[in-house]
Amino acid sequence: PQIPSVALNNGVRIPQLGFGVWQVPDAEAVPAVRTAIEAGYRSIDTAEIYENEAGTGRAIAEAGVARDELFVTTKLWNSGTVDWSGEQGRDRVLRAFDGSLAKLGLDQLDLYLIHWPRPMHGSTFLNIWRAFEQLHADGRVRAIGVSNFRVPDLELLLKEASVVPALNQVELHPYFPQAELRAFHAQHGIATEAWSPLGQGGDLLAEPALVRIAEKHGRSTAQVVLRWHLQSGVIAIPKSVTPSRIRENLDVAGFELDAEDLAAIAAVATDQRIGPDPAGFDWN
Ligand code: NAD
Repeated sequence: PQIPSVALNNGVRIPQLGFGVWQVPDAEAVPAVRTAIEAGYRSIDTAEIYENEAGTGRAIAEAGVARDELFVTTKLWNSGTVDWSGEQGRDRVLRAFDGSLAKLGLDQLDLYLIHWPRPMHGSTFLNIWRAFEQLHADGRVRAIGVSNFRVPDLELLLKEASVVPALNQVELHPYFPQAELRAFHAQHGIATEAWSPLGQGGDLLAEPALVRIAEKHGRSTAQVVLRWHLQSGVIAIPKSVTPSRIRENLDVAGFELDAEDLAAIAAVATDQRIGPDPAGFDWN
């Protein structure tokens, strides 16, 4: 399948559909990521905390696809007790980065994200961001970004940063479309990436309005939701370990949601998150 890509604010391109591996155990990540790459995915989203960077890396090595055709993202995990300031903080970031890269078996990463802003710790993420900027300047990562940042977190970051984050990866799906955050991103050249783009496969995929649109187009509800992400200019990283679904989730070309469909999808928004609110999330 033909997957559209979008240019990040530094010119690096990212496929608009990628494969997420949260909650996939390391051993299972090998066949899942291999199936995804064989199906045509070229972007993989993992994280230090998922504990499957090694399995993901093995699948990448085994897949036999040229490195420069793949886009690999991982994320720096929270650490509540750690002081990220000064030289010591910077060294911790660099060590975590080295650890992730070694597990992935790569010598350069495509995208590195701060996993959570943890605003209860003030401007700690600014210290982390300076180390990210260094990794970027050193060419060890092609783009740097953030995850779960809210407008006030981004405002604080933008005031101090030399490098504007390429992307913010946040919970986003038809129930929780994040209109305000997306408008802020658009103003500042930050790409929007959706996590849990299918609403974690729960009620959203049985939502009557979405089921009707799926029937109208002869597609699955998951395909309609992913099509909505693409037409909204959002990057989406659906997860599945089921080969038929892995393929289905990539097969979203060849139909177009019309204005009536888009209005019906907009009407299901509840503004309820499924995942944690970043304002209070400090798990580590
Ligand atoms: P998702 O919205 O991608 O839903 C995945 C679930 O939906 C699957 O486990 C399966 O049960 C179901 N599903 C998948 N394809 C389907 C299909 N075609 N038909 C029916 N059901 C289907 O949820 P997710 O895994 O939470 O999010 C995707 C990725 O986003 C994660 O794997 C991870 O990479 C990333 N993520 C990041 C953060 C973060 O804090 N940055 C948080 C959560 C997830």
